[in-house]
Amino acid sequence: MMPIVYTPTVGLACQKFGLVYRRPRGLFITIHDRGHVYDVLRNWPESDVRAIVVTDGERILGLGDLGAYGMGIPVGKMALYTALAGIKPHQCLPITLDVGTNIQSLLDDPLYIGLRQKRVTGAEYDEFIEEFMQAVVQRYGQNTLIQFEDFGNHNAFRFLEKYRNQYCTFNDDIQGTASVAVAGLLASLRVTNTKLTENTFVFQGAGEAAIGIADLCVMAMMEEGVSEEEARKRVWMVDSKGLIVKDRPDGGVAGHKLRYARAHPPIRTLAEVVKTAKPSVLIGAAAIGGAFTPEILQDMASFNARPIIFALSNPTSKAECTAEQAYQNTQGKVVFASGSPFLPVTYGGKTFYPGQGNNAYIFPGVALGVICTGIHHISDELFLIAAQALSELVTDADLAKGSLYPPLNSIKDCSLKIAAKIVDYAYAKGLAWTYPEPEDKEAFIRAQCYEPRYAPALPAAYKWPSQL
Ligand code: NAD
Repeated sequence: MMPIVYTPTVGLACQKFGLVYRRPRGLFITIHDRGHVYDVLRNWPESDVRAIVVTDGERILGLGDLGAYGMGIPVGKMALYTALAGIKPHQCLPITLDVGTNIQSLLDDPLYIGLRQKRVTGAEYDEFIEEFMQAVVQRYGQNTLIQFEDFGNHNAFRFLEKYRNQYCTFNDDIQGTASVAVAGLLASLRVTNTKLTENTFVFQGAGEAAIGIADLCVMAMMEEGVSEEEARKRVWMVDSKGLIVKDRPDGGVAGHKLRYARAHPPIRTLAEVVKTAKPSVLIGAAAIGGAFTPEILQDMASFNARPIIFALSNPTSKAECTAEQAYQNTQGKVVFASGSPFLPVTYGGKTFYPGQGNNAYIFPGVALGVICTGIHHISDELFLIAAQALSELVTDADLAKGSLYPPLNSIKDCSLKIAAKIVDYAYAKGLAWTYPEPEDKEAFIRAQCYEPRYAPALPAAYKWPSQL
């Protein structure tokens, strides 16, 4: 069911949300509810909510501003909380904050279910988000996990900085993506037989995904013993205007990109950046389908015995290259992962099963660990721990068949293992609020999990108490 509940079908479901809408799921709160957000939250019938996934629909996958149609994302993600990490469904609340949409075709769509107005921005929008965060705490408590999904990147980074030490929150597009990508990189290093610090990284895109991955890579490189500055130097970033450099001629570089601005003459295209930097790792997260041209892929194969190439953009139509293009243009040398699923590829008589660098390997397990321990604030360390835990679950046999991730059908086990590492860390660092400390952490976690299975039918001879 994963490709239906999640990428790629969920994107289509969001685009057609008005058409396929049958019954409400999740809670819509609109900007017109300002001053009453707590009262709207009180309408939700469950009182033991432990986790919320919230979006404002501004940047749904690589599809852009879908406004209230974005509800498919929190609903899908919360379904995965239960299916992949056993978090009880009644403890999960999907929320869409409807502040309008700037897409005219949606505003003109007779089936559109959201507010028919342009997005509210500025102080009014910020106050609305603030009221929402406070209302969640008032209704469900300080420990309620709030996962931000698919906010526009100008808001995503701001809110992460603003709220990470105040609430129990994380941004999956930044931190979850970072963790799953770094897990894939750590597994790739076993193929290339290198340390992270021995690699050069080129990112196509400098948004939530790319910056998040780069930041976590820098953190992991620092664990290998280099300084932050040295680590950052290994990263080249390309956005819509070309290589991100200091003193850009056509305007400055915005806040979060600044730390990756190189002292280098401007370079316009990704192809030229690749030729100049000669990276060992090329990561795409700009939602520009086909950006990894045959020429770029061939160049990667000419500099590296085993080039590492991740085409992370979703949905499939936005992927930088297909798995087949990656293998064909590198004579099967590529170490490949993608954001959307691809079928196995046969090249040179060998069949490769490329892994999907899917956030679903990470966020359910992290959420489970956080909920089980009552951690108050979610640090980047947790995402590095999750990445390391996931990469350790990749077997040599997985690597041999071209997979940088464990098989999808073992993903529940991955969630439990990640949660167990987080629980260990939380108790070791004094961050856990659940007492007493369980002796067997994994058994403790398992005991709390919900089983999404129907119980077997009762035997015909079963007698209800009233029949006895
Ligand atoms: P974002 O809007 O924050 O960032 C997009 C970035 O692309 C921006 O920095 C923008 O400057 C850059 N860009 C735009 N046009 C460009 C061009 N022509 N050349 C180079 N750069 C260009 O979005 P995001 O959250 O970073 O997501 C980007 C993509 O990554 C989406 O398709 C998303 O679905 C995908 N993604 C995948 C995963 C995953 O597979 N695990 C996780 C998160 C995001």
